[in-house]
Amino acid sequence: MNINDSEKIKGILQTQGYEPATKEEEADLVILNTCTIREKPDQKVWSHLGEIKKLKSKNPNVKIGVCGCMAQRAGYEIASKMPFVDMVFGTKNIHRIPNLLEELRLGNRAIEILEQEDPLEEILDSYPTIRDNSYCAYVTIMRGCDKECTYCVVPFTRGKERSRAPQSIIDEVKSLVDSGVMEIHLIGQNVTAYGKDINYPFYRLLEDISKIEGVKRIRFTTGHPRDLTDEIIDVMAELPNMVNHIHLPFQAGSDRILDLMKRNYTKAYYLNRIERLKSKIKDVSFSTDIIIGFPTETEEDFEHTLDVIKTVEFEQVFSFKYSKRPNTPAYYMEDDLTDEIKTDRMKRLLEIQKAITSKLMKRYENTIQKVLIEDKKDNIYIGRTTTNVWCNVISDRDIMGKEVEVLITKSGFQSLEGTLKNVL
Ligand code: SAH
Ligand code: SF4
Repeated sequence: MNINDSEKIKGILQTQGYEPATKEEEADLVILNTCTIREKPDQKVWSHLGEIKKLKSKNPNVKIGVCGCMAQRAGYEIASKMPFVDMVFGTKNIHRIPNLLEELRLGNRAIEILEQEDPLEEILDSYPTIRDNSYCAYVTIMRGCDKECTYCVVPFTRGKERSRAPQSIIDEVKSLVDSGVMEIHLIGQNVTAYGKDINYPFYRLLEDISKIEGVKRIRFTTGHPRDLTDEIIDVMAELPNMVNHIHLPFQAGSDRILDLMKRNYTKAYYLNRIERLKSKIKDVSFSTDIIIGFPTETEEDFEHTLDVIKTVEFEQVFSFKYSKRPNTPAYYMEDDLTDEIKTDRMKRLLEIQKAITSKLMKRYENTIQKVLIEDKKDNIYIGRTTTNVWCNVISDRDIMGKEVEVLITKSGFQSLEGTLKNVL
């Protein structure tokens, strides 16, 4: 979401006459887009701001802005502790950048953090988005989140769930494929809940996008298991351009912890979703997010998390030590597990996962995979398989921006290698 927001911010700035600086020191305006999901990103923001401050001593005219989730959550604190910051805006008023720039031109500090969603936010969709990747594009389909996971700061930083109009999404996808984009990555905090507010189910949007000529691949992030209906799974299985990979966070394996987290599902329900995906979608691969050491997590609870990992066999796991976030319901629970316990559980989990990933990566060897080439370093072309694994491809032909068939000759822990067989 932050990457896509930054792409949008670049687009808005362009309409205001700005262009990218080649060096930070030469910039007239520096905007730091921030994350606040855990405590670590917060700390990074404070230290990065210390670095950015130095730019002002070299160029007193440079304007410094802070936006994103941390600005939404703690923007006034940033403004008061960091007087050199000229502009602060939250996640709900990106569309107000032109007004904020006007404030700066008038010599004022531009601090604006909207508490409520602004109905005028829709004009964001009419601004250009400047993307670095010419072949794979993020498309925001919804903003905010209505779930109330007790550890999570997102509902406070991104606000209420609001779906973008299907036609606006379809128009953007059409213009993207016209400009050469092949992979459409639909994004939102909880895309499987898309359309609840406008009575337009997510699976219908998938069908609409699938029909657009030129869309070679569709991905989405992130789905919530609770909203992953049979219909969505069935449509995923039917659409020819839907990839065979899904990122489906489960967070914890113990029903007691899931309940405390207010995830609204059980371990059995999660595993049932995985079973259905496995039975419907050929060679489907999975990735997930896990929180380790939620308050009161016992060894027995943690064993359930390990059990899910062993049962599902995810190709990739993103695991995070629980981090207490201001204002969240879990903030008021004692963060009773020491860092040593969290680190030890994380280590054990990663060890088990390492063996699973290695085994899964081996199964690619000597198979033919479809790879969409999006980069090139020296003479090696780089792309991703439909299962989202990076693959280095050796080819004498120029295959940039092409979908190709590759014979996989070698598998590593995080990437594959292969030779070109066919250009599709
Ligand atoms: N909307 C997505 C998650 C967005 S946050 C979803 O519901 O799946 C990305 C990940 O950060 C979460 O999946 C969770 O694993 C992790 N996370 C969120 N809050 C956290 C916290 N307080 N401590 C540790 N990890 C957290
Ligand atoms: Fe946070 Fe839960 Fe919403 Fe994901 S679904 S953004 S974890 S509140």
